[in-house]
This record gives sequence, structure tokens and C-alpha cells, in this order.
Amino acid sequence: MILELKPTVSADKANDLGKRVNGIVVQDGDRFCLVTSSKVKEVSSEFKEFIEQEHVMDTDIQLASRSYKSTTRKIDLGNGKTIGGTTGNTVMIAGPCSVEDVKQIDQTATLLNKLSVGVMRGGCYKPRTSPYSFQGLGIEGLKMLADARTAHGFSIITEVRDATHVADVIEYTDIIQIGAKAMYDHGILKACGAARKPVMIKRGFGTTLQEFVQAAEFVLSGGNSDVILCERGIRTFETKTRFTLDLCGVAFLKEYTNLPIILDPSHAMGYRYGIADLTRACTAMGIDGLIIEVHPIPEVAKSDAAQQLNHAEFTELYHSLGAVAKSVGRTII
Ligand code: PEP
Ligand code: MN
Repeated sequence: MILELKPTVSADKANDLGKRVNGIVVQDGDRFCLVTSSKVKEVSSEFKEFIEQEHVMDTDIQLASRSYKSTTRKIDLGNGKTIGGTTGNTVMIAGPCSVEDVKQIDQTATLLNKLSVGVMRGGCYKPRTSPYSFQGLGIEGLKMLADARTAHGFSIITEVRDATHVADVIEYTDIIQIGAKAMYDHGILKACGAARKPVMIKRGFGTTLQEFVQAAEFVLSGGNSDVILCERGIRTFETKTRFTLDLCGVAFLKEYTNLPIILDPSHAMGYRYGIADLTRACTAMGIDGLIIEVHPIPEVAKSDAAQQLNHAEFTELYHSLGAVAKSVGRTII
């Protein structure tokens, strides 16, 4: 249950009321809200004088639900770009799987700048399946991304793999990415709840939609209202493609949550040959953003080599998206 308190209720009073209902106190604009378990369906009459509006909830998808906020949250990504709201924008995020060296970052950053792509991606702490694979450049990589931002003026997004370096990622990045394997890490979710930067949470490949959105609830109830969801494919019986992109799940998220939605065709498909078609299909879903892996020479990439597009492939794909976006009332930015 969400109890929206009147704007006149002070922080001290909100904390006191929060304790009495076993609820979390969350500031939302000019007021406080108390969020209890969704099992609570009513509060005693002594609370009524402090309450502006009550939202009874079916499940613990609460702050993220459209029954609490009917319009999609609008989130500032820095450098004049926003995601969500009612703008009808589909934000393109592109860049390599991993930050590998200055030359690689400079080449792709120059391409993205030329195409006016507003957000560059690149992992510096890689959650690899094998301990013998490239694990990322760490803080050195974060500095390379930050230098590219200074040189080219876009925003950057990079992932946090575990709680040991979450502070460094928060310091350097504009948008914090929580990966599919990290989305259950409560140390990360807690740190991101306290951060003042947008957070993009990727759906774990064995995660139900309920669990996915509840991970977002940890960040939202921790005090950070800027959360974006990213569908990147789930594991099914199919093995010919790397994962199965759950577009039905995307329809659910669009219908029932107020969080902007980004789709990641690169990790879902896992192979270069399908990415362009899949990206156009994603765009036709009328979503808030796309995240695509791009590398100057994918064949030598240190991670996810099979799925990264080269510069020519990405450029061709990028130019084909405008018409698809337009057909569903959106613009690629
Ligand atoms: C990535 O974005 O490079 C990545 C590791 O993605 P995921 O967490 O979805 O596997
Ligand atoms: Mn990757």
C-alpha cells in the first residue's frame, strides 16, 4: 500500500508515521509517501488527517506501478537528453561490450558523435562466465569513458559488477547499469537507491517479470526515483540463439509499470546476423530506448565478439530506424 502524505507533513512526522505502519518513507517531489507491504490494505483512522491519497496494491510492484503514477517517468540522462515521459523519444545507446583501450574508445566515440548518438556504453567491470576471460579494465576504463565524454559531449553508461566498486562507477558514469547477473545484489541495489544518478536495471535471464520489477522497487524505495528497465533476453529451451527476447514481457512492462523501457537486441540474439532485424522489431514495440553493442573490429573484441556490430553495420542500422520509429509515433534521439 502506498500512502501519499499531505505536502504539509514534515520529514520527522513522516518518519514517525512510517514506523507505526512498518513502512518505508520515500520522498516524492514535494511530499513523502509511506510504502508498506502490499498485503496491507488499510490503515487505522488516526492516520487519515495526514493522508492525501491511498493506493491499495495487488502486489509489491508499487512505486513502479501505473496505478501509482499513470505516466512513464521522465528521466534526465544529462547532456540535454531525457528518456521516458510523454516525449515519444526512443533513445539510442551504443558502444562496445567492454572498454578495451583508448584507440578503440576514441574510434567508436567519434562515430557516435558523427551520428549524434547521445549515450555511449562500455563495460569496465565485466561479469564474465569464466574467470579466465577478460574481466575489464576497471577504473582505467572508467577514466577512458569519462575522457570520451569530455571530448564528444555525450553521456556514458557503464555497469557495476559487485558492491566493491559501486562508488567508482557512480562517480564516473552518468547512468549506472546493473547487469543481468548483478540485479539480485542487494549491496548494489542499496547503493543505487542512495545515488543521485539514473539506474538501468537489466533483467536476469532466469528472472520473472515480478522479480525484475521488484529489483527496481529496491532502488525506488531507497530514494532514487530514476530507474529504467532493460529487457535483454531470457533463457528458454532454445539454444540456436543466445537468449530469447521477451517482447510479451515488454508489453506487460509497458502496460503495468511507469518506468522507461530499453531493449537490448545484442545480448538477446548473441549473433551479428540477427541484430538489425531484431532492433527494428524492438523499435516497432514503441519503447523508450535501445542499447546496441558496436566495436571498430568486432572479430578481435575481448568480450561478446560474435554479437557486436562494426561501424558500417551500425551506421546502416541506425539510418533505417527513423522510419520504423515514426510509424509508431516515435523519434530516435
Ligand atoms: C553487457 O551489457 O555487456 C552485459 C554484460 O549484459 P548483461 O548483464 O545483460 O549480460
Ligand atoms: Mn556484452
